[in-house]
Amino acid sequence: TAAALEELVTPSVQIAYTQHLIDGKFVDAASGKTFPTYDPRTGEVIAHVAEGDAEDINRAVAAARKAFDEGPWPKMTPYERSRVLLRFADLVEKHSEELAALETWDNGKPYEQAAKAELPMLVRLFHYYAGWADKIHGLTVPADGNHHVQTLHEPIGVAGQIIPWNFPLLMFAWKVGPALACGNTIVLKTAEQTPLTALYVAKLFHEAGLPPGVLNVVSGFGPTAGAALASHMDVDKLAFTGSTDTGKIVLELAAKSNLKPVTLELGGKSPFIICEDADIDKAVELAHFALFFNQGQCCCAGSRTFVHEHIYDEFIEKAKARALRRTVGDPFKKGIEQGPQIDPEQFEKVLRYIRSGIESNAKLECGGDKLGTKGYFIQPTVFSNVTDDMLIAQDEIFGPVQSILKFKDLDEVIKRANNTRYGLAAGVFTKNIDTANTLTRALRAGTVWVNCFDVFDAAIPFGGYKMSGIGREKGIYSLHNYLQVKAVVSPLKNP
Ligand code: ADP
Repeated sequence: TAAALEELVTPSVQIAYTQHLIDGKFVDAASGKTFPTYDPRTGEVIAHVAEGDAEDINRAVAAARKAFDEGPWPKMTPYERSRVLLRFADLVEKHSEELAALETWDNGKPYEQAAKAELPMLVRLFHYYAGWADKIHGLTVPADGNHHVQTLHEPIGVAGQIIPWNFPLLMFAWKVGPALACGNTIVLKTAEQTPLTALYVAKLFHEAGLPPGVLNVVSGFGPTAGAALASHMDVDKLAFTGSTDTGKIVLELAAKSNLKPVTLELGGKSPFIICEDADIDKAVELAHFALFFNQGQCCCAGSRTFVHEHIYDEFIEKAKARALRRTVGDPFKKGIEQGPQIDPEQFEKVLRYIRSGIESNAKLECGGDKLGTKGYFIQPTVFSNVTDDMLIAQDEIFGPVQSILKFKDLDEVIKRANNTRYGLAAGVFTKNIDTANTLTRALRAGTVWVNCFDVFDAAIPFGGYKMSGIGREKGIYSLHNYLQVKAVVSPLKNP
């Protein structure tokens, strides 16, 4: 596979937008500063992007505040807002090849995955929330006494949104879709590793008729731009996706400033439980996908593969064979399943966890090292004989490292699966409906996939128990994050 890394495809897309998008216009950073964004295949600079800090966030929030307070967006009819979302989705569809290429270039994910899975999901999500825009309404409440009581579901105001680098466009969609459907305005800060595609789609949103100031996109780093957004006094709501450590920081910043409500989508260490009755070949394939998808850079990755002792040896052999067949290389090339990790920090971190696995006497079945001489490629790695006390069984690795653990019975595996500070997702593989019902009820996780994994339909809520987060995104649940409920009370008979 290393040979596949020698000759790289030159991306066939121009980088048109590198400035902040504030109040409908592309503008330089207030400081004039820029920072580089890199191609993870080589570590070479792709483009220099405006570097936002507190002053840029102030300007963006002022634009969003004005667009919210003075309209027209929150005052447009829900149907008109819905039409803007639909027109935007059409434009994304039209530009999806450029967008997928830009996403691959900036992030390193396989082009086919971006083009055939992620872009269609983004379009579908905006169709879904366009459908909600004109179906959000309150209740008439039968309260005691002679009062007429109604609830109004109003937009919450200016939403601050901070997104990560592993799915730049999808994270944009999960945050922006529901916020706009509800009539809010937004300041979105992208991850410093992947600033490019959000700027492109935000431009398309304006072509679709979104009024200026409704969606502002600022590029920049976490401790500067991100922290300024989280602690801004004029931001009414904060939505964050990223690591658990940073989630704690932004929650604190929100509390210390103006107590804005916060939703958090954080890390995970999701169990994938393969029961005794499973079809082993299918289980191997699904467990492989659950872990290795997106270079292992998924917060919900099935990163603890629990296998029943009766099928354990055969499973290990086949899981190893599957990992050895995984095609790693230039993500622009057809048939490539795995590209590079996002950046040197993540690359080094994953390699450190691999060394920790070896040192703690897990059995390295395959992989275990970097691949090639440039960029951030890592060999698909499988560990067997992993035990619960090992670091690789406890920490989020966020890389192509599968840890396989053995179990004897359901009660035991439920306890072990739940014995984690996280609770984002879980997978169950069985043909037995009783086993499936027992596990889906017992597992403390925001999503349980049974005989499937990583199904991310727009209608399905996603979020974590425990230290995996607060609140749910997607589906009907995400609307609640972006609405205020106002009770309006009046006497039935005026005095
Ligand atoms: P990772 O470790 O995977 O890069 P982070 O949680 O650090 O994940 O990053 C997710 C997002 O949070 C990014 O947009 C990043 O810039 C932002 N971020 C990082 N640190 C802070 C911070 N102190 N305050 C606000 N946002 C931050």
